[in-house]
Amino acid sequence: MANIVLFGPPGSGKGTQANNLVNEFNLFKVSTGDLLRKEIKKKNLLGAKIKSIIDQGSLVQDDIINELIENILCNKSYFNRLIFDGYPRNLNQVKNLDTLIKKYNQSIFCVLSLKVKQDVIYKRILGREICSKCGLIFNSFFNPATKENHDCDLKFLQKRSDDNEETIRNRFQTYIVETLPILDYYQNQNLLYEIDGMREIPIIYKEIRRIVHLLET
Ligand code: AMP
Repeated sequence: MANIVLFGPPGSGKGTQANNLVNEFNLFKVSTGDLLRKEIKKKNLLGAKIKSIIDQGSLVQDDIINELIENILCNKSYFNRLIFDGYPRNLNQVKNLDTLIKKYNQSIFCVLSLKVKQDVIYKRILGREICSKCGLIFNSFFNPATKENHDCDLKFLQKRSDDNEETIRNRFQTYIVETLPILDYYQNQNLLYEIDGMREIPIIYKEIRRIVHLLET
């Protein structure tokens, strides 16, 4: 096993499937979005700058992202056991990840790309609710939190400030223009596996684990 990249448009289910992989394969999730939201909570100048970019639906500067990623890749306790969720997001980040992976003697195991149509993405994002206590992700339309699938109190469920219609439109545009082109790069490296992300969460996960197990043998 080595590091996995989960790729897909905003709202494609990367975070949910990363959580599934973390539980089964004892991996560590690196969501650059989560790391940036942590910075925002510090209520300093950098956090305010990051918040305004996130709320516009644009990408935060590469140097900020690269520093966050190097802090994690240099940590020996995560050696070759990372799942990247929402990173890399442009070609410059792809190159930087390659450099850091080499620097710390690691590798990329595979890039799993979740394919989801735009109209479904909107509904998924508008219904998204995240538990601020345990980090689980739910959807008020498709996968609501219940007593069976969630142990924490409902009061911990939160919506993201960038999960509104206008920001979603911009985030999707950013994805098409800046993020989508990186797929060719990973295809050329023979690392890319495409997955139909329109199906139900457990079925998508079944396919993901089938690919991971296949690659392990
Ligand atoms: P996410 O939680 O992955 O949906 O990301 C939320 C927002 O954080 C994105 O719309 C970007 O503004 C920012 N962001 C997350 N990851 C990155 C990244 N790798 N590079 C630049 N900006 C990012």
